[in-house]
Order: sequence, then structure tokens, then C-alpha cells
Amino acid sequence: MGISRILIANRGEIALRIHRAAHEMGIETVAVHSTADADAMHVRLADHAVCIGPPPASDSYLNVAAIISAAEISQADAIHPGYGFLSENAKFAEIVEAHDITWIGPKPEHIVTMGDKVEAKRTAGKLGLPLVPGSDGAVSDVGEAKRIAAEIGYPVIIKAASGGGGRGMKVCESEDTLETLMSQAGSEAKAAFGDATVYIEKYLGNPRHIEFQVFGDGNGNAVHLGERDCSLQRRHQKVLEEAPSPVITPEERTRMGDICAKAMADMGYRGAGTIEFLWENGEFYFIEMNTRLQVEHPVTEAITGLDLVREQIRVADGKPLSVTQDDIRFTGHAIECRINAEDPWTFAPSPGLVSAYHAAGGMHVRVDSGLYAGYRIPPYYDSMIAKLIVYGRTREGCIMRLRRALEEMVVEGVKTSIPLHQELLRQPDVLSGDYSIKWLEEWLKERG
Ligand code: ADP
Repeated sequence: MGISRILIANRGEIALRIHRAAHEMGIETVAVHSTADADAMHVRLADHAVCIGPPPASDSYLNVAAIISAAEISQADAIHPGYGFLSENAKFAEIVEAHDITWIGPKPEHIVTMGDKVEAKRTAGKLGLPLVPGSDGAVSDVGEAKRIAAEIGYPVIIKAASGGGGRGMKVCESEDTLETLMSQAGSEAKAAFGDATVYIEKYLGNPRHIEFQVFGDGNGNAVHLGERDCSLQRRHQKVLEEAPSPVITPEERTRMGDICAKAMADMGYRGAGTIEFLWENGEFYFIEMNTRLQVEHPVTEAITGLDLVREQIRVADGKPLSVTQDDIRFTGHAIECRINAEDPWTFAPSPGLVSAYHAAGGMHVRVDSGLYAGYRIPPYYDSMIAKLIVYGRTREGCIMRLRRALEEMVVEGVKTSIPLHQELLRQPDVLSGDYSIKWLEEWLKERG
């Protein structure tokens, strides 16, 4: 038996990424798309395509009934959700499984646990992961919040239990603003996620964002694939990612990676996951776990040689992991630039017609993108239009190659963040790897 036709419940570069892995495994694909994406590259390449609704995501890419119907009609036997949209929606995963369709993702109960950040922290703590000091669970009472904040010390950060994409977070510098910020965070969280629950943790002054890629077979076996450094962020959104992190030694990688892999093995975790930490003064602090493939997964693929989507499909199909921890070797260095259709300095979205397009190429250069000349970038979705991933034997070599590759990229007709990346890669702190999660915003501010 085995999976023979995968419905891709996503769009853009990740839909294409999944299509490619499937076809390399001899598996057919079904693209589902909104009316705005009828001309998308992955729709053209897929074996079957089903239009599932109008442009707004709520009517198409988040429309569970339409997607399940499309799977039934097209006789897909598996669904890959990509990232974003329904990828971390446990209800959707359950519905997929209830229709006897293979869910290419973690067990629904693990999506539930990790989707609630309060629960996730509790679980991570039990599994032996180091946590950011903070409230032991949700906080609703202002008096209690004040006690906790005084104990851990200001500044603190108020976070939404159901938060994601950097939304629903408030940094609080002192007690007199705590009540206001708590209620603001709560109502923003309610509006964005339908859940006003918040919790408090210590606001770390100058950490790096370092995350471990993990993979489980669902039967108690798990491996880690090393870390990615995603500290270059704007508004808590990643801009450029690299693997390995310039600050993590092989010993630290093995130590922390083994802790993460063991936690996943103990949970019986299935499929791809990412355990995110903040890292400061040599210490790791767990912040959350993402139960899906991440945007930045290709940098891990570049330094391990493993195809993570292929691995996801295999595991969902009930096969064992294709590697043991001992098989995994980390070689060289990889960096990913997220290329967005936006003004590189004001970040104003810039959708529209791509009049000319040329992707960079050459040794160790990978472009994951659905762009082509004549494509019209719709205004309804995320502005990321391409990912440029470059590999080098050393970090320095990787940066040189990345600069060369950025020079080659041509995207005409819309503004893109390519000039931002080019300038970033000339900054001494970026070249030396000396940056934290604050660095990019401070640099942008100074630049004016
Ligand atoms: P989301 O799920 O919205 O992405 P995260 O918990 O992963 O939220 O946090 C996103 C980013 O916010 C982190 O990468 C970091 O930049 C910042 N952040 C989160 N928690 C803290 C903290 N305790 N101290 C300092 N910065 C934080």
C-alpha cells in the first residue's frame, strides 16, 4: 500500500517544496488553491488541481470542509499541511484522520499540547528542558501577576498562551504598566486567537534565538538534526537564518540536541518538530515548540543532506526514521534569506506583476520559490515570495557565495527585500556572527 497521492493544503513556495519531495518519491500530488492562485507554479506542476474557494484564506486555505471534499474527490490518501494555515490545527488533523486520510504531521494530541504555550512550557519542563523563568501557568489575576513579576524581576514579557507569529506579546518594564499591558495583551490575543489567556516570563535582555530540529517516528525513537540560529528578526519575525549557529560548539550541540531528542522519544513524538530556545550567556531557555515543518528547514537540509519533507512522508506512512543519530553528520554552513515582496526599508507590502524573474544558480545555491516572469503576486497572503539558501564549507565561504547569489537574483516589477539582505551581509557584526534578537531592529533604527 503506502501513500500514493498527497493533497497539499498550502500555497506558495512550501506547496512547491512538498510537490517536489512527493514527485521524487513517485507520489502524485493534488494542489488545492484559491481563485487568486489559479496560476501558481505548484498548481501548474501538480498532477491534479482543485479550486477550493475565493482569495481570503478563511474561505480557502483555512476552509476545512472544502479541503476534505477536495481530498475525497481527488482520491488523495494523504494530506500535507505545510506551515501556517492549518498546519498546527489539531482539529483539522483529527478530521483528516477520521476520513481515513493519512495526516503528514504530528499526533493531534501533541499539536494540542504544544499549541498552548502554557501547556507546552509545563510539558517541556517535565521532559527536562530548561525554561525561561516565569509564571507557572496562565495568569489572570493582576495581583498575582505583580507578585510573579516582582519575584522574577522586571522587565517581563506578557505572552498569549495561543500566540504565534510574534503576535500578542508585550514587554513590561515596571509594575505601573503591568495591569494595562496585561489587559492589552489579553484583548489582542482574544482578537487574534480567540483566547485571552496570557502568561508571564522574564524578558531576556539580549538573547539569541536558537532552535533545534527534531524528528520522531511516533514509536519512541527520535533524533535531532542540530540547531538553527534565527536571531536576525524584525518584529519577532525571522529574516535570515543559519545553521549551525556561530556560537554553539559541537559539544553544546550534542548535549542540548540529545536532551531534545530524548524529550521527543519520551513523548512518542511523530514527524518533524522544532524546539525553540532563547540563548543568553551560554544558557538555553525553552520558549516554544512548533509541531510542523519550518520555513527555515532548508538550512538544516543543507548541512545534514537529509530531505525533511521526504522524511515526514515516510514517517507518516509508518516507516521508521531513515537515519539514526549516529548516521547524522553536520558538514559546512548554510544560510537562508527570506525574500519578501516589500519595500526593503519601509517593509510596505509590494504585491503585483513580476515582469522579469531570474533565479540565482551555481554550486550549492538553492532557490525555493514559485515565482516566474508574468506571475502576479496576490495581495491576500504572506509577502514571502522566495527563499535563497546557500551552502558553503565554511561560514565565510557561505557568506561570499550568498552575496554572489543575491547579485544574480532578478525580480522586477515589485519591490523586494533583496537590497536589505545585501546590505545586511556587509555588516561587520553579521560577518562575525555577533548579533542577538535585538540587533536587526537597532541597526534599522540607526540606519534611519
Ligand atoms: P511566537 O510563537 O509568536 O513566534 P515565541 O515565543 O516563539 O512567539 O517568541 C518569538 C520571539 O519573541 C522570540 O524569537 C524572541 O525574539 C522574542 N521573545 C519571546 N520570549 C522572550 C523573552 N522571554 N525574552 C525576550 N524575548 C523574547
